[in-house]
Amino acid sequence: MTAQPFTATVLGSPRIGPNRELKRATERYWAGRIGRDELADVAAGLRRDTWAQLTAAGLDSVPVNTFSYYDQMLDTAVLLGALPARVSGVADELDRYFAAARGNAEIAPLEMTKWFDTNYHYIVPEIGPDTTFALNPAKVLTELAEATEQGFGGNVARPVIIGPVTFLLLSKAVDGAAAPISRLDELTEVYADLLGRLAKAGAQWVQIDEPVLVTDICADAPALAERVYHRLGGLSERPSIFVATYFGDPGAGLPALARTPVEAIGVDLVYGPRDLAAALGSVPELSSKTLVAGVVDGRNIWRTDLRAALDKLAAAAGSAAAVAVSTSCSTLHVPYSLEPETGLDDALRSWLAFGAEKVTEVAVLARALREGREAVADAVAASDAAIASRTSDPRLNNTALRAQIAEIARAGVQRGSAEERRAAQDERLHLPPLPTTTIGSFPQTVQIRKARAALVAGEIDEAAYTEQMKAEVAAVVKLQEDLGLDVLVHGEPERNDMVQYFAEQLDGFFATANGWVQSYGSRCVRPPVLFGDVTRPHPMTVQWATYAQSLTDKPVKGMLTGPVTILAWSFVRDDQPLADTAYQVALAIREETVDLEAAGIAVIQVDEPALRELLPVRDADKAAYLDWAVGSFRMSTSGVSNATQIHTHLCYSEFGEVIGAIADLDADVTSIEAARSHMEVLDDLNAIGFSNGVGPGVYDIHSPRVPSTAEMTASLREALDAVPAQRLWVNPDCGLKTRKTDEVTASLTNLVEAAREARAGLSS
Ligand code: GLN
Ligand code: ZN
Repeated sequence: MTAQPFTATVLGSPRIGPNRELKRATERYWAGRIGRDELADVAAGLRRDTWAQLTAAGLDSVPVNTFSYYDQMLDTAVLLGALPARVSGVADELDRYFAAARGNAEIAPLEMTKWFDTNYHYIVPEIGPDTTFALNPAKVLTELAEATEQGFGGNVARPVIIGPVTFLLLSKAVDGAAAPISRLDELTEVYADLLGRLAKAGAQWVQIDEPVLVTDICADAPALAERVYHRLGGLSERPSIFVATYFGDPGAGLPALARTPVEAIGVDLVYGPRDLAAALGSVPELSSKTLVAGVVDGRNIWRTDLRAALDKLAAAAGSAAAVAVSTSCSTLHVPYSLEPETGLDDALRSWLAFGAEKVTEVAVLARALREGREAVADAVAASDAAIASRTSDPRLNNTALRAQIAEIARAGVQRGSAEERRAAQDERLHLPPLPTTTIGSFPQTVQIRKARAALVAGEIDEAAYTEQMKAEVAAVVKLQEDLGLDVLVHGEPERNDMVQYFAEQLDGFFATANGWVQSYGSRCVRPPVLFGDVTRPHPMTVQWATYAQSLTDKPVKGMLTGPVTILAWSFVRDDQPLADTAYQVALAIREETVDLEAAGIAVIQVDEPALRELLPVRDADKAAYLDWAVGSFRMSTSGVSNATQIHTHLCYSEFGEVIGAIADLDADVTSIEAARSHMEVLDDLNAIGFSNGVGPGVYDIHSPRVPSTAEMTASLREALDAVPAQRLWVNPDCGLKTRKTDEVTASLTNLVEAAREARAGLSS
């Protein structure tokens, strides 16, 4: 039963295709342009290439079943027979799967949320009173058979599944069911069956992912995991079990797992605490296991400091029977390969490692464990040289910038009191009660996208592009005037993306040529790389805001992205605390607000939709994060006078844990997604004494549906129960860029009318 231990692996790998082949194929399948066989061929080709490349690069164990048509949590729900009843009417299996992921005309999709503190979104399984678990192992068995057929069987192909503790703790109870975790023992038996089936199919190892053990989501998780892996470890017919933890410190989860009969345990030695490698020695039960040491950063794009990694491996060596080298987590979170990145200077390029390069690093480190450090001396020398070049590069060592930030921090990032600000702004803006506004973007029309593509392709020049965007701004301003909105926006037509747009203009960032990573389903993003000290060489948005302002007497809101969100949606440097990087970005945004104000812009919005996203996975680390998140926002927004009104916008999340921080941002007006959890956010804000302006979204922009005036009047009435009229704003719950112009026109017409009716109600 005990398989030969492996020595070099990754916990998972990118799967969308080196040139996003899977994205294109699934989207064409959804559009009815290709059939399922063609889609299946693309998928099988990607799996084959992945296994071949991983083994060719020197890994002796490769993940199987980490491929997904959409998402691994959804795959797990299918594996366990846990799809909701509402999709069971879709006869075809693949279409049922996609219906669960994306919905269709009749079926609402499952919810989607962030995978731990990454930018990947998983599908949230629903566990109701009627959910009956039943093993459905077709996918994993087929992929295992495929790998075996291609010569990766035996000890090499290692099926990967999400573990029962993580699956249940990340699922949500529906229809009045008890917390999903209450069904752990029952579900464990389904996993027991699965392990039997995998053993029969020839799997010698199975990887079971339990990343939930690095969080504080459930205090009992370590004890629950111990129970589960005692049961699964005690099975007589099973593969050797490797339980993987990642994204942080497994804490009490580690000794708990070590007390069970599993053969291998994976630990994240990049995102875990600095002394984790050495601390492993204090877990005596580990001494009979294989330790899978995640020493190569699986979720960021920096080249590994091989010397430091070897030191960690040496520190960990005595604690376990054997040590295998791996990435800290699946490399799903980084691009495929550096190879297409030909536009980088040599220094910059030498500092990086994408998916393929990380695999090579794992193989080199494993070789050093086998043959001694001398065997990899050349690789270590190259790593040393890269690290030295990075450490000494002037682009990372702007001492004047650091002094300037310290100086502003010393002077304080406090604005005038809320009352002083309100008085100054009232005098300047003369807004009606219940002012109406939008979140910033208007529809990114076909013409806008065509113009941008033409600019990139060199078919039109910058001047022609700018003219087209200005025409778009003029149209959007006119539309808003016609609709009767109170605070206007320019519509953001010139922005490809709310982070990339700024990254392209700031020093210290670069854009990759092909650095795509999966965000969810077929959606991919290409995060900018924040490699150096961040400075703002020139104003970034002033010409757009002032042009829009020149067309109207109503105030036009300047639109900026906040430091936390810029960090969250970029690959960030790992050579200084995140807080230091955040303050550098904050200074650049601050300079922009000052320029906007000087150019006559009276209202400025600094978006922080990702505030909740970067919240650390462990409770103990949350306060320190929120401190710099709030501090950097305030640094961004405290350079303007009391008469300039600062807005912020938050969305995409449950705000519970960050509600205090939202208040601490101290924006004059906060627009916040509230269409779903309706006005609960207002009660939560009231509970902590929040007393600034607030605009709870009165309609959900994530759907093409046009809400009626009556509906929005009703939500406003509800909001007015929680918030006095002087503080309430009327707005949609997010930017309108994904909508069509006619939907937006109809919805905003009704929104303005709802605000009028609510105003009339106030005076009566
Ligand atoms: N200002 C941005 C927009 O309207 C905000 C986007 C967001 O919240 N994600 O598009
Ligand atoms: Zn939003």
